[in-house]
Amino acid sequence: MATSAVWPLDIVLHEASGQLEVLWNDGLHYTLDASGLRAACRCAACESLRRAGTPLVPAAGIALTLLRPVGEFGLQLCFSDGHDRGIYPWSYLHELSSILSLQTTP
Ligand SMILES: [Zn+2]
Repeated sequence: MATSAVWPLDIVLHEASGQLEVLWNDGLHYTLDASGLRAACRCAACESLRRAGTPLVPAAGIALTLLRPVGEFGLQLCFSDGHDRGIYPWSYLHELSSILSLQTTP
């Protein structure tokens, strides 16, 4: 099995804001917004909505409630709307980081 080229050195779930802070092995440091992560969910249900042309609009004030490690592979993210089907491989989370990031610490 191919190893991901990027992996997190540190992950913090900010419960108050529901945001995800990730420090990557390439030195990038990102804070990810729960709403953007929810909209980017790639589970079967969300993918079929997307294929049907239905835009995924996360509920206002949505937050991350739980992170579940998926082996060395990535994270399963659970959201405050009860959606917990999304698996986010490290490579995908890293890609989303550059798109969704709210702030970057040098
Ligand atoms: Zn989903």
